[in-house]
Amino acid sequence: MTDREPTTCMRCAVGCGYQQRAGDDGEFLDVRGDDDHPTNGGKTCSRGVRETIDPSGERVTEPLIRRGGTLRPTDWDTVLGTVSVRIIEALRNGNDNVAVLGSGQQTNEAAYALGKLARGGFGTRYYDANTTLCMASAVQAYVQAFGSDAPPPTYDDIPDAETHVIWGANPKIAHPVLYRRIADSAGGDDGELIVVDPVESETAADADLHVSPEPGTDLALARAVLAQVVDDGLVDREFIEHHTEGFEAMVGSLPDVDVAAETAGVPVERVSELAAAFDARTLVYWGMGVNQSVQGTGTARSLIDLCLATGNLGPGSGPFSLTGQANSMGNRVCASKSSWPGYRPFDDTAHRKAIANAWGVPLSRLPDSSGPGFVRIIDELARDNVDVCWTVATNPVAGMPDANHVESALEDTFLIVQDAFRSDTVELADVVLPAATWGESEGTVMNMERRVSRVSAAREPPADVRQDVDIIGAVADRVVSDLFDSTRLDPEALFDEVSALTRGTTADLSGISYERLSEELAVRWPAPDETGEGGYRYYDGDGADAEDARDATPDDADGRWSFPTDSGRARFSNASHRGVPEPIDEAYPLTLTTGRRPDAYNTGVRTRPDADDDGSATAARMHPETIADNLRAFDRGETVIESRRSAVTVGVAPDAHVPPGLVWLPVHNPAANRLTLSAADPESAEPNLKQCAVALRAPDRTTTDITGSSGQLNGTGSHS
Ligand code: SF4
Repeated sequence: MTDREPTTCMRCAVGCGYQQRAGDDGEFLDVRGDDDHPTNGGKTCSRGVRETIDPSGERVTEPLIRRGGTLRPTDWDTVLGTVSVRIIEALRNGNDNVAVLGSGQQTNEAAYALGKLARGGFGTRYYDANTTLCMASAVQAYVQAFGSDAPPPTYDDIPDAETHVIWGANPKIAHPVLYRRIADSAGGDDGELIVVDPVESETAADADLHVSPEPGTDLALARAVLAQVVDDGLVDREFIEHHTEGFEAMVGSLPDVDVAAETAGVPVERVSELAAAFDARTLVYWGMGVNQSVQGTGTARSLIDLCLATGNLGPGSGPFSLTGQANSMGNRVCASKSSWPGYRPFDDTAHRKAIANAWGVPLSRLPDSSGPGFVRIIDELARDNVDVCWTVATNPVAGMPDANHVESALEDTFLIVQDAFRSDTVELADVVLPAATWGESEGTVMNMERRVSRVSAAREPPADVRQDVDIIGAVADRVVSDLFDSTRLDPEALFDEVSALTRGTTADLSGISYERLSEELAVRWPAPDETGEGGYRYYDGDGADAEDARDATPDDADGRWSFPTDSGRARFSNASHRGVPEPIDEAYPLTLTTGRRPDAYNTGVRTRPDADDDGSATAARMHPETIADNLRAFDRGETVIESRRSAVTVGVAPDAHVPPGLVWLPVHNPAANRLTLSAADPESAEPNLKQCAVALRAPDRTTTDITGSSGQLNGTGSHS
């Protein structure tokens, strides 16, 4: 039996600290919350514990290679030889002939090594991670507004907030331990919880005020609230004057409140109530309901605008995007597609030279463009512009919109899949590289509030399974042999390498080491020295309270604001609602949206059997009125949901929490994304996963039947 090992839960981005223990036979005996961990203080949730101890997915336990149309067991020499030859051949025809798709399920070390190999070794523009599918709009919004990515607040700000506005997110289900903090604060004497969501979600059911816009109209609603804030004189002139730019242009671009409210399908009184809520110390949290839209960046910026306009920046307030995947933040800092490690600007020559020097590669090998992003990379595969695609810990067949298109694109490409579990994407692979999973891997992750924390191995992986970093190192050794110092990559050395590259950047990790993490368990960046750690971002006001922060001027010695923009000020935006990409019409008169199911995560490769127990998990939720209006479309409790891309047969769950005219499917079922739309936000490349037009018709038994299967979709991580 092993001693208890401190580690971090990798089932969502809350980043709870665990103590784990395995028996002599390698089976997990138990995990429990780590009382000393600063993130969760010992608290856990059932999903995190259950999926950690007893994941339901089918492990990949040996290398596989496709022969005669079937995946067959083979040995590591054979798969690595095949992989390296195919990559070398492809690279002869151009660096962009190889696509590499990573994941927010990788450790920082694996993400960094993969990004280094893809861009410094192969030199491909076609590199991204599935984090683009969930957080890219928030990232763009932060960069545009503040000059750098990541939320300004931390979990420490939650108890100090008076109003908690949760927009397009359901943290009671998706982030249970974090939600307990929010609910505790909102339940206090001065606390208030406001939820904006088309559906009366589990979180909305707890709210003091629930506002239900039409799906895809969040930007119209946010701009209506901004206009109301201005009309009602709720703006903080001092803060705007001293710390922002673009306010007047933003005001000039605002819509008429009545018109924008009508576009969003929200009564004007609700808009007024939302505006009034910002007159208190307010934290605004948002999730996929905002980000996964063709105007996700514009909407996220409008939420930031609301904070800037009302002076809700500073301790106890501000914009706080809720990250989905466990290490989405780490992937952004260590291996983002749109920047170099430490958020170094992609196009900046000095930074490009510094990266090329550090990696020991010619500057000319670095790609000259950050590439089109996850969704459009698949389009390049479909156009036959890429010969080889290597996916790591991601399941695009289930997690991407317009899944039929994804499947056909991957089928026509030489597909290398590195994963721990049998996933929908594994089934299409030409070669499968079996990877270690959580509890078998060493490394670090970063939670959504920038805390770096160790993940550690309590047991050995199966005999023929290797660590992610070992696989990446072995491929690198065969294709670009001098990129890494050693074939066998050491997680601690990789962490030291990437943290050195972040020194002096906005995401400075250089004061964090494995040694420090073993003593302190978790440290927030920026951490430029060995004792300090980051607090509220862009604000240097040790010991100052929220009022001091709001009143601080640029000349104050204490409580100084500093944004890494050209002017040093935060920027307002002026986007306007442009309509949804696929409005309903006579042929497709209903709107499809998707959401999370309790105790499920990502594409569901570890949880599908649980979801099948009573079949209810795969039922489409819809209002009784919607059912009554479409009675001919139902047969023996089933219906067909049809979009312009595909059709699926589902069970039906009457549910008055879903507004009339809306059809709700769990993100966790692979078939749901056969219906969704691949239109993407041009600024963030994030797909419009939350809204498309559908129709219902009676089953003819020839469509895809998802009533007997379940999986997870949103964010495509599968293996950690
Ligand atoms: S809230 Fe997230 S990180 Fe915490 S125990 Fe649950 S799944 Fe794990």
